[in-house]
Amino acid sequence: MDHPEFTADEIARGEELFKAPSEFVKGVVSIAALPDEGTPEIAFAGRSNVGKSSLINALTSRKTLARVSVTPGRTRELNFFTLGPESELYLVDMPGYGYARAPKSEVKGWTQLIRDYLRGRRQLKRVFLLIDARHGIKANDRDTMKLLDEAAMSYQAVLTKADKPKQSELQAVIAKTEDELSKRPAAYPQILVTSARTGSGIPELRAAVATLAPNGVVP
Ligand code: GDP
Repeated sequence: MDHPEFTADEIARGEELFKAPSEFVKGVVSIAALPDEGTPEIAFAGRSNVGKSSLINALTSRKTLARVSVTPGRTRELNFFTLGPESELYLVDMPGYGYARAPKSEVKGWTQLIRDYLRGRRQLKRVFLLIDARHGIKANDRDTMKLLDEAAMSYQAVLTKADKPKQSELQAVIAKTEDELSKRPAAYPQILVTSARTGSGIPELRAAVATLAPNGVVP
């Protein structure tokens, strides 16, 4: 139940994909500024403070690729990074949502950006929706899930900070999350369980991303 089974080959492909140095491409604050060369993308979304920056840094083995926030929810842009030996994918770090102390006008702006991006992005292959393993799915995660379902945009839940809860609590959150996702039309049935701190689940998440890379990522 913890980790879906990946073959050794899939794990190796994931490792290969993330071995190449990821580079920052651009930060986008408006839909008009999105890259348009057709490179396939995968995106990471979640509530602010869910551990998204830490997870992206663990995936890419970089300490500072995505800024680990001092103030939660500091990133307000869609940040594009290259992925893979031939930059065959873009990794998109989305602004964290649900940061209560941000000014209303600002929240409105980036909520609209997220909505527009998730609704109409053909090259977006899957959204990895990060969920804090201590808390499970929250109301604003459901808002995002609703948007993704309505857009028929494929998404997969990734539990973060799995080192924090007790084993029994973790198992309960996994079961509850899987149950809720099984009722969601665009949700991928398997969830991934990760910890940026211990590295558990990172090879599996890399493998899941690699299944979405165009052909050519060979170990
Ligand atoms: P973001 O706002 O979603 O980008 O979240 P950050 O990556 O900035 O992390 C938010 C807080 O959670 C920071 O204090 C991190 O040190 C902590 N954190 C992130 N990942 C983990 C993890 O895997 N385990 C634990 N125990 N803490 C984590």
